Order: sequence, then C-alpha cells, then structure tokens
Amino acid sequence: MRLTDDRYSGERSQFELALRMIRHEARTRTIRECTGLSDDRIRKLYATYFRDSGNNVIKRRRGKSPRQVTRYVKTPENQLQATTLVALYCAGLLLRIDQEDRVHACWPRPDVEFGHRLCRAYETYLLFHDNASLSFEWAWNLLQCISYNEELYLAHCRGCNARYVQDAYALDHRICPACAMDIPAKSRPLETELTAI
Ligand SMILES: [Zn+2]
Repeated sequence: MRLTDDRYSGERSQFELALRMIRHEARTRTIRECTGLSDDRIRKLYATYFRDSGNNVIKRRRGKSPRQVTRYVKTPENQLQATTLVALYCAGLLLRIDQEDRVHACWPRPDVEFGHRLCRAYETYLLFHDNASLSFEWAWNLLQCISYNEELYLAHCRGCNARYVQDAYALDHRICPACAMDIPAKSRPLETELTAI
C-alpha cells in the first residue's frame, strides 16, 4: 500500500510540475528533463488541460532552447532582469557564488524539485518586473550559461558594489545596470543581494 501511495504522490508531483511549466510555455524537452515524463504524456497533458479546454492563450513550444548570451546584456534593462534571475536562483539554492564571484550549479541534474524551484524563481522574477523580457526558456538557459562561467560572469560595480551579469567578451565599464539606469537604491530589485555565500 505504502509503495502505491509513494508512487501516486510522485506521479502527482510530476504532473503538477508539467502543468506549471506548460503554463510558462516551457518547451517539451525542458519539461521532459525536469519531470521525467515522456513526450507523449506531456503532449496528452497539454491537450487535456490546455488545448481541449478552450485555453488557447498557452502556446506549446517545440525544439531547442534559445542560446545567445547577448540577449541578457543587450540593454541595461535586460541585464538588470538577468541579474534578478541569478539572485533568485541563489536564493532558491540552485546556484552558489564563491569568494571569487564564480558561479556554481548546486543541482547535479534536473529533477522535479529542481523544476519547482526553477518555476518559483521565474514566478518571483515576473512579480519584480512588470515588463519581463525573458521567457521561461531564456531563464532556463541563463541558469545553465551562468554556471559555465565562460560567456557570462558576475561583474562588480564600482559605484554601488553590487554584482551583475556581464558578457565575458564585452568591454566592462564596471557600472551595474541599476546605476546605469539611475535607479534609486531602495527601488532596486534584488541586485545588491548577489553576494558570495
Ligand atoms: Zn551599481
């Protein structure tokens, strides 16, 4: 009996995560990686809960996740939003920053708990930014890119001392996006929270 209960609650958690990710328009592949559900089951869930229910607002994305780090640093606004996401990943224990400001992934491989933490971080990010410009897939991609410490890294602002997401191949003026945008200290979304832990 116990085994059945555990299996049931495990499956329920997988389904809940799949529905949560579909709502964010995550790609099938991303949902599969986190939930462990087959493409076929994901398609059926989508069909049952979204397509056939008359809810046509949610689109199902196919193919690979986008990969172009310039998206995160294209404008100070995007840079600020990417920095908010990284701070939320740290708060959700998906990432850790060491004393040298290098970023480390804390989760060995995606699973259901990882997926829920990713969703929670993304949902909080949406609350912080009315004009959110990064989709769920861009957020997922950022989590991976920043933990490689290759194309993206955490730079250090000479004005306010905050860390911010920066392109490793761009000229860095050591001015964080919030200082560049002249955002008063008390209205800055989480940027100053990005410190080594
Ligand atoms: Zn600054």
